[in-house]
Amino acid sequence: MNHTVPILLYHRILPKDAPGFDPYTVSVEKFSRQMRYLKAAGYGSLPLAEFVATLQAGAPVSGKRVIITFDDGYRDNITYALPVLKAYGFTPCIFLVSDFLFADTAHAEGLYLSLPEVKAVQQAGWEFQSHGKTHRVLTELPADLVREEVSESKRALESALGKIPCFTYPLGRFTDEIKMIVRESGYSAACGGLPELKGGVPDLFEIGRTEIFEADGMWAFRFKVATGFGPVMYMKKLAGAVKRRLARRRDKRDRA
Ligand SMILES: [Zn+2]
Repeated sequence: MNHTVPILLYHRILPKDAPGFDPYTVSVEKFSRQMRYLKAAGYGSLPLAEFVATLQAGAPVSGKRVIITFDDGYRDNITYALPVLKAYGFTPCIFLVSDFLFADTAHAEGLYLSLPEVKAVQQAGWEFQSHGKTHRVLTELPADLVREEVSESKRALESALGKIPCFTYPLGRFTDEIKMIVRESGYSAACGGLPELKGGVPDLFEIGRTEIFEADGMWAFRFKVATGFGPVMYMKKLAGAVKRRLARRRDKRDRA
């Protein structure tokens, strides 16, 4: 297990009985236990942009670090996750959808963070990056609209929050062409897909994350932090890697 920096993915954090608790929500109680574990295990926060700069420099990451990310920019990230994160000394990276942040209609129900809220926690060290303009799934759009989603969100967010070097694909869906458009739009990196099985340097436009679900018990959470995968997926990945290694060995032998 030489998975180096765990990059955790969350969406919403809510009390267990709250309306709107969906499969992408983790309860405050579980989230709190998870953060307590990370703190006790000696992890400290690492900003995603700093991780990317370290990879670009080919330098090692110092210390035991974790990157805690939230997608979509829900207000509950401040209402419920902030007190927990603060208690254990963690600062997260939030991927914002620029239209959700700037369009007044999106705030009507108080579902998403507003600009003053974002600015206040940015002061406290929270990191913000781009998750597109409207959250449309990029693999379902023609190239010109992909370009608009990717570059318009960067422009809008940068005008309010400063440098936005990282992107994450809505629903984690992307193609090689989409990766190229993100790169051409001036981003340094993007998150998408699953983590690498072995540490190693990931493709900077395909940095994998580990999604945490309410169904994960503490044992599963610790396993995910250690390996990047849930137990079943980890065994599958491992079996795939062993199979590939054996196939390579067989090829070599056949050629000899
Ligand atoms: Zn999303």
